[in-house]
Amino acid sequence: MMTSGERFDVIVIGAGTAGLSAAKAAQQTGARVAVIDHGPLGTLCARKGCMPSKILLHSADAMARTGRLPHLGVDLPEPASFNWPVVRARTRELVADFVGHVVRATESSDKFTLIRGAAAFAEDGKLRVDGDVNGGDGRERLLEARSWIIATGSAPTIPPIAGIEKVPYILSDDVFTLDEIPRSVAVLGGGPIGLELGQFLRRAGAEVHLVQRGRTLARLSEGPLLDSLVTALSRELTLHLETTTTAVRQEGAETCVSLRRRDLEKEIRVDRLFVAAGRHPDLEGLRVERVGVRVERGVPVHDEHLRTSNPNIFVAGDAAGAPALLHTASLQGHAAGHNAARPDELQIPPIAPLLTIVFCDPTVATVGLDPEAARRAGYSPCVAFRPWSDQGKARVIDQTEGAAQLVVDAVSKKILGCQIVGPHADLLIHLISYAMHFGATVDDLLAEMIPSLAQRIVRDLEKHECLRGEVAPCDQMQ
Ligand SMILES: Cc1cc2nc3c(=O)[nH]c(=O)nc-3n(C[C@H](O)[C@H](O)[C@H](O)COP(=O)(O)OP(=O)(O)OC[C@H]3O[C@@H](n4cnc5c(N)ncnc54)[C@H](O)[C@@H]3O)c2cc1C
Repeated sequence: MMTSGERFDVIVIGAGTAGLSAAKAAQQTGARVAVIDHGPLGTLCARKGCMPSKILLHSADAMARTGRLPHLGVDLPEPASFNWPVVRARTRELVADFVGHVVRATESSDKFTLIRGAAAFAEDGKLRVDGDVNGGDGRERLLEARSWIIATGSAPTIPPIAGIEKVPYILSDDVFTLDEIPRSVAVLGGGPIGLELGQFLRRAGAEVHLVQRGRTLARLSEGPLLDSLVTALSRELTLHLETTTTAVRQEGAETCVSLRRRDLEKEIRVDRLFVAAGRHPDLEGLRVERVGVRVERGVPVHDEHLRTSNPNIFVAGDAAGAPALLHTASLQGHAAGHNAARPDELQIPPIAPLLTIVFCDPTVATVGLDPEAARRAGYSPCVAFRPWSDQGKARVIDQTEGAAQLVVDAVSKKILGCQIVGPHADLLIHLISYAMHFGATVDDLLAEMIPSLAQRIVRDLEKHECLRGEVAPCDQMQ
């Protein structure tokens, strides 16, 4: 049965992090809001993203630490082993709790009307919602609104590799529920998901090949910092950098992966192929072309107010092709929700200095500009670089892999960026991020590793010996 004529001020498509944030912001302006979701509810982050991946990594880290214990004078009676069924059960239990919390809050919210169903734009500019989904009431609805927000998230990208459609492969979602840890895995992609889950699989017992088309990993540009990461990761993973996967085929239980690096071709054979080649906005079935939303390279074209080529339709979160980060989804959702409800007072989502963290070990955390980006932006960057092996605390805690670098504008002394590969990078980077947010100069910085970098820059600036973007050899400043 079709019902039509239900009308709202703002309709949000997608009850993920971006969509829920958008609904709240729109409702706060007094708008009557509906949120449509085909399910499952609970957000990507809690169900199949940030949370389960970090739970796995925590166990993997614990496993890796056992290997270092004898070095610290702690002998285990027997070599440690990884108990995947226990880790998987713990992941399932924690995720059920996180998801349950979100689902209950979504279903009981008095800020919007939740409609369970698959949304698709109709030719007349209305939204057709098919309620024949898990949790839906089976009804078909035609909904009308003054403005709309597309917050439909993202889907994994499958690269066009010869033979890919004929071999079994897994995606990040599948890693959380594997029956058993495979003996060997080829991970296609060296972004955050490939690195984090690839390292998890290694520490859980698999032999792991990680194939990356470019030379960079974890969004680090070329230089000594990237080199330090490559050195650290190579101790565990077989890295195939600047390597293209040209074809895949199945031979019995094995997947054969053909690789090419410059003129060299080779083949590796693995039990499992794990495709981690990025994600793209999920617009499947939404029929945005019917309402004049222009899409370029899979991303809805939008302006700084997140407004698409249809002035009544906004986009937020992974659906906007934003860096796939939870906080970006939330900030964009808020701005899109406000803008959809109050187009007379458009907001721009706060552009915090872009902060990225890859929770591999050593952890990689970056904020703001690296030296090359600073130069391109017209600054005179002064750069301090230091390896952790040169730092007392890192030696004490036996975590000396990696390095850190700080980028400061030589003229204003303002902090332009920081890149850290190493212990507590995920926490330290927030100090720098706050400092940047408040426009701090290098003189304002204080923290274990950070002051030595800051001191170096202050000293160089005083002596007019700024390195102008050159990476300094490390010295013994304490
Ligand atoms: C393995 C993994 C690890 C990650 N780790 C991190 C991390 O450590 N830190 C971090 O910041 N980010 C991380 N992310 C990214 C982060 O999870 C996402 O950026 C964020 O969750 C995106 O939120 P969203 O609201 O855009 O999308 P989602 O939460 O996916 O919400 C989209 C919603 O839209 C609904 N929907 C889609 N199409 C329709 C339709 N046609 N009709 C109705 N409903 C529809 C879906 O059901 C879904 O509920 C990770 C992602 C993955 C995959």
